[in-house]
Amino acid sequence: MSDGARKFLVGLVLFLAAGAGIGWLYGHIAWGMLVASLIAVVWQAQRLFSFERALRTGNFETFRVGDGIWEQIFSRFRFESERAARRKKNYGLLLREIRKSTNAMPDGAVILDGNNDIIACNRAAKQLAGLKRKKDRGQRVDNILRDPELTRLLQADDYKSTVEIMSPVIDGEWLNCRVVPYGVDQKLLLLRDITERIRLSKMRRDFVANASHELRSPLTVISGYLDSLADDDSIPSAWEKPVAQMRGQAARMRQILSELLELSRLESAGPSKSEESVDVPALLESSRQAFAGHRNVASVSIDVNSTAELRGNRAEIETVIVNLISNAIRHTPADGEITLSWSSGPDGADLVVADTGEGIDFEHIPRLTERFFRVDKGRGREDGGIGLGLAIVKHVLARHDAVLIITSEAGAGSVFRCHFPADRVAVEPPIPLAGGR
Ligand code: ADP
Repeated sequence: MSDGARKFLVGLVLFLAAGAGIGWLYGHIAWGMLVASLIAVVWQAQRLFSFERALRTGNFETFRVGDGIWEQIFSRFRFESERAARRKKNYGLLLREIRKSTNAMPDGAVILDGNNDIIACNRAAKQLAGLKRKKDRGQRVDNILRDPELTRLLQADDYKSTVEIMSPVIDGEWLNCRVVPYGVDQKLLLLRDITERIRLSKMRRDFVANASHELRSPLTVISGYLDSLADDDSIPSAWEKPVAQMRGQAARMRQILSELLELSRLESAGPSKSEESVDVPALLESSRQAFAGHRNVASVSIDVNSTAELRGNRAEIETVIVNLISNAIRHTPADGEITLSWSSGPDGADLVVADTGEGIDFEHIPRLTERFFRVDKGRGREDGGIGLGLAIVKHVLARHDAVLIITSEAGAGSVFRCHFPADRVAVEPPIPLAGGR
């Protein structure tokens, strides 16, 4: 029991005893005690009403002094309420600092609930994506930033990938969007302005495309003269070899330029809209035939396990197949084997080119699709390799929502698997049995 409570009890007992004493003097102890109790009750009730008023008005000035139990309750209450006010002020300051720093961030940040409804956003989100802090609160973010890729990213709870979308407010600006988990059943959508990076990569693409285009005409003239020289019997025999070499190098330059132009075209084109039905086994067969005349090459077999057709661009899919077969042939000895296969399942379809050739060291695999990357640069030049084939394959596959998965072991061969998602694959309905009962 606290000092105050003890004093209160002692005071009460003494007061009642005093009432009883006065009653005894008049010969009515019970009346004396009753009157003292009534006075005590009235007095306590008055303090209780004052406390209620103080709580209501927040004015505790009348209880500043004194050491009775009520004063102690009031002063404790005052102390707690002042402490709560101080804390509130500190939290307010902290909140203002956090808001200031999130508003100073150049990247947009949008807090979303599990339903992708907007809870809050910073100033950059407003500037980059036009989100309005109060008006858009509670709205689904994909109803405001309308992009199928972003909707897919939000619905898949994919915390690794990023998507690039056009800014809905500033024409020509690009935003990179990323989702990260946040709090309980919440996520943070981060928006970064990548306009400069997109502009630079477009400049690089345009430069490569323009340079390749401009170099084509002079090269055609040079090749024409070299062809004439090669056919001219009057040139000295000492010139025959140099002319043949120059023709070979000119042909290689023409191939480099045409592959660079093809890459630029693929890079600047979006996803393939072409809805041709591509008969992959037929393409595998015709590509195999195209290489059949070559001497000293490994045997090529075809393994088809599906009647599914691919939805895409036939010419581009043929380029993929030809590039992969050409690579397999160049990197597999004549006694090796190359297998082309086509199969499908519920998660899509796979086009695979596997060989039992020289294979690739593990460390080189992630770099194979880089432009001009060749494991053995010297050899690449000898066998006609440029280092653009797999870059083209990767871009064509990306345009078909597909991925290239490479597995290889040095000395044991390689497997190049092109995986197409289910919505790029049209499975033929089974042919009904004739005369079925
Ligand atoms: P290249 O014109 O040199 O063939 P690619 O982009 O098609 O260019 O291939 C890049 C490199 O990947 C090649 O130089 C080669 O080192 C390696 N490579 C590609 N396919 C195979 C394969 N089937 N077996 C071994 N190495 C391969």
